[in-house]
Amino acid sequence: MIKAVRGVRDILPSETPRWQRVEAAARRVFEAYGYREIRVPLFERTELFARGIGDETDIVKKEMYTFEDRGGDSLTLRPEATACVLRAYIEHGFQVEPKPVRLYTMGPMFRYERPQAGRYRQFHQANVEALGETHPALDAEVIAMLMDFFGALGLAGRLELRVNSIGDTGTRPVYVSRLVEYLGPHRSELCGECQARIDRNPLRILDCKTPGCQPVIEKAPSILDSLSPEATEHFDSVRRSLDAMGVEYKVAPRLVRGLDYYVRTTFEVLTTELGSQNAVAGGGRYDGLIAQLDGPADPGIGFAIGLERVVLLLGDEAHAAGPVALLIPLGEAALQRLLPAARRARQGGVPVELGYGIRKLPRELERANRLGAEWAVIAGDNELARGEAVIREMSTGAQRHVPLDTLAEELLRLGGARTEPRYT
Ligand code: AMP
Repeated sequence: MIKAVRGVRDILPSETPRWQRVEAAARRVFEAYGYREIRVPLFERTELFARGIGDETDIVKKEMYTFEDRGGDSLTLRPEATACVLRAYIEHGFQVEPKPVRLYTMGPMFRYERPQAGRYRQFHQANVEALGETHPALDAEVIAMLMDFFGALGLAGRLELRVNSIGDTGTRPVYVSRLVEYLGPHRSELCGECQARIDRNPLRILDCKTPGCQPVIEKAPSILDSLSPEATEHFDSVRRSLDAMGVEYKVAPRLVRGLDYYVRTTFEVLTTELGSQNAVAGGGRYDGLIAQLDGPADPGIGFAIGLERVVLLLGDEAHAAGPVALLIPLGEAALQRLLPAARRARQGGVPVELGYGIRKLPRELERANRLGAEWAVIAGDNELARGEAVIREMSTGAQRHVPLDTLAEELLRLGGARTEPRYT
């Protein structure tokens, strides 16, 4: 038996109602804030991610699905969407549009990580990017929208929003040297990975999840004490706007995020309910990134929501509804009368299921129960001769007769749907 690849899973029909609910909430909330959907390819030139995410990041160093195609080009399955959206922004000249250009996208991402509950090798994100505007009110608006998405799903109260500023590229070296100075004497207390990071990318140490590193990380100097006056004012302004909108948050000076491109505002949404995979969404400002990808010097801010984790938080609440009715023809002649009625009901958006006249009535009634149908419509030779069908309410067993000629209208009425066909 061939099974799905490790870390890659099917989203089964029992789960898709929850996924659809999450995706619909994302679209509704993002579009209310003026975001438009863009769909970008699942793979890109490897170089885009190497330059756009950063050579020193875990993603680029260890987690990318990179392959050479038959033409000899190095391609990579997208591990995140920001670089792809920015590539499209540059390629299609979006910078001439009114700023900020607000874009969102949804779909699968690919990272070669160690699979565990809530962590997969193919996973899904909803991504938002607001491009071409530096005003701190935009940062606050983006964060408020993220929380409104969780609010729309009734999850806001179970999540914690953390915000931080990691300063500008110009002033960050001041903090990094303070951090390295602090870490030096603690080198031996850190995990092997972090020991190497002291020389390569010390900021990332603050992001390390290894328990042994936490006591050292907790006492590290706060980046907020090393911000430039401009970065401080930007962060204060973001916080004022969040306060004005009533968005609750915690300031988390050690929140640096796993990607190289962030400046100033960074934020993350955490849960305590999913074990170690506690990040549900994260994002930040990336003002130099578009230029770094050979585009205009337009700033940007965005976030990614991990949809698997949102769906996990929703639990088992939503179940797919069964059909409104199971149509049970007893024989071929009845089948030919019920087929067009089923089609009319379906065209009107009323889900019905149909037997093919080959099973006995008790078996079909059992099937109606298993499908969760509210009604069964039964037509045998006797009913046909009278031009009627029997409608049975499954919960009570109560039965009545309806003319076959008006059966379709009756089904539309039972389904509470419009009587005009949706398709012709
Ligand atoms: P990132 O792009 O790393 O900032 O991740 C954004 C969000 O995507 C995280 O907060 C997670 O919710 C989700 N995420 C990241 N990696 C994975 C993964 N391997 N499996 C499932 N969800 C993930």
